[in-house]
Amino acid sequence: MQIVKQYPIHKCGHAKHSISGTKCLQSMVGKSNSSRYIVATQDRELQDSLRNIPGVPIIYLHGKAPTLEAPSQASCKYAENVRKGLGMTEWEKETMRTLKEAAGLAENTEIKCKRKKRKKMKIAAHVKEALVTEVMKKQLEKNKIN
Ligand SMILES: [Zn+2]
Repeated sequence: MQIVKQYPIHKCGHAKHSISGTKCLQSMVGKSNSSRYIVATQDRELQDSLRNIPGVPIIYLHGKAPTLEAPSQASCKYAENVRKGLGMTEWEKETMRTLKEAAGLAENTEIKCKRKKRKKMKIAAHVKEALVTEVMKKQLEKNKIN
């Protein structure tokens, strides 16, 4: 709850014609996640669809612990292509290799998919609302028990 409060609210424009949370999130992420969203969801279908889009980190709850999923195949492939391309000509690449060898840095052929750290997370207004209501309900239930 406190964590959720720290984040800005994204207005997705679905307030008037409400759609499902899944569809809303998919529309926000789009085809390339240009807004750099990290999506926190337990919805398997949504997770599956987001894994097809490069650069969408997925957070899910493992028991009570929010867990950042390893980058999807689409993300790794995309990162690999960017790395391969990088706008270098063959000559430049060759030069780089030679320089690296000279410096004793053997080319590491293994491709590591690093996790990107991002500080801000945006949450759609109605998704946040849903989260907040859920947390509040749980707190009420707790209070009743105590
Ligand atoms: Zn929406």
